[in-house]
Amino acid sequence: MIEFANNFYKFKIYGYLMIRFFILFLLTTALFGSQVERFRWTKGETYLIFLEKQNLPLKKLYYDLDKDDQRLTEEMRTGVHYQILKDSKGSIEQVLLPLNDELQIHLYKKNGTYHFEAIPIVSNSKTQAFTLKIKNSPYYDIVKATGSKKLAQIFVSNFRNSLNFKRDLRVGDTLVLVYEQKYRLGRTFSMPTLKTAMIEMRKKKHFIYLNKDERYYDEKGHEVEGFLLARPVRGARISSYFTKRRWHPILRKWKAHLGIDYAARRGTPIVAAGSGRVIYAARLGSYGNLVKIRHADGYETRYAHMKSFRRGIRKGKYVKKGQTIGYVGTTGRSTGPHLHFELRKRGRAINPLRVVQVTTKKLKGKERKAFLKLKKNYDESIELHLANQTVFKKPKKLEDLCYFFNGKTYE
Ligand SMILES: [Zn+2]
Repeated sequence: MIEFANNFYKFKIYGYLMIRFFILFLLTTALFGSQVERFRWTKGETYLIFLEKQNLPLKKLYYDLDKDDQRLTEEMRTGVHYQILKDSKGSIEQVLLPLNDELQIHLYKKNGTYHFEAIPIVSNSKTQAFTLKIKNSPYYDIVKATGSKKLAQIFVSNFRNSLNFKRDLRVGDTLVLVYEQKYRLGRTFSMPTLKTAMIEMRKKKHFIYLNKDERYYDEKGHEVEGFLLARPVRGARISSYFTKRRWHPILRKWKAHLGIDYAARRGTPIVAAGSGRVIYAARLGSYGNLVKIRHADGYETRYAHMKSFRRGIRKGKYVKKGQTIGYVGTTGRSTGPHLHFELRKRGRAINPLRVVQVTTKKLKGKERKAFLKLKKNYDESIELHLANQTVFKKPKKLEDLCYFFNGKTYE
């Protein structure tokens, strides 16, 4: 089954703007003899190559778009599943290209011509939990139980800095995971979000909790250190946050902001957020003067709109965390001096605030109070699953709820 957004208008956002969008979940071949095909985005494929291959109009679906929409099309990643809906004669009616777990490109034919729009992705979230007795290693056992390498990786990487599994873990020790998994069209979709986890080693329980600030803390309210980046501009105010999708009320369309904007005076030094190798230092379209740095573990940072690069900063150069690489400016598509800062992991844009170092890594005051409340709920949940010895259950194939097409509902 497939969802296809047909058009949208009106549904309440920001209190005053109404947008609503129709979604058509098509029973394969059932309606109008249309056919849905599912594909994987191959390595090296680009949006333009895709249009060419599918005989879709390049001018209408790419060259006529504004810069922001054009940049969205660069977000397609290798391995992503996408859908094409064809009519009975094999001509393309609609295409859905997921850009991240919240936003997708929708190409559709209306009155004989093709149109481009970015629309939200509809998905269901399910909270899941299980307990496990260690037989081999946390990583191996989680993968074996759930089939999810992603979940195992998240679990291990968050305990990696504080615990020594090799030394302290014994066969029969217990772990509990509570996490959220998105489903789209009956399949798991995107990365799972680990909410809380517990591992008992040598009779001592160790916890991590995902706080409201999207960072992990231990039972004492200390941040669990993972990959940490320095703030790229000291003392700067954040003028725009990371969002995978946002409704733009004036342009009346969906956009994404895949980085953090730091407002600062022209000429303010920009430092490398982590040590790594410069893989790009030149002008690049709407980014203006751009530096890209490759770090360990598949991380990459990007610094855009720079006034200028620091002397000696060029492709191939190794830089240290905290080292100045350039100066704040407003080159490229920018309305005033600021740094547009992006963090990517294996090409996927992630929220830099999840990994950017803050001065206090210990929760205090109001924040601590809120955290303790959250922690209490998580602890109860963990206790419950421990008492029940909850085992991992593959969720039943989720049926999609209802389908709209030009105002009609289909089941
Ligand atoms: Zn920005």
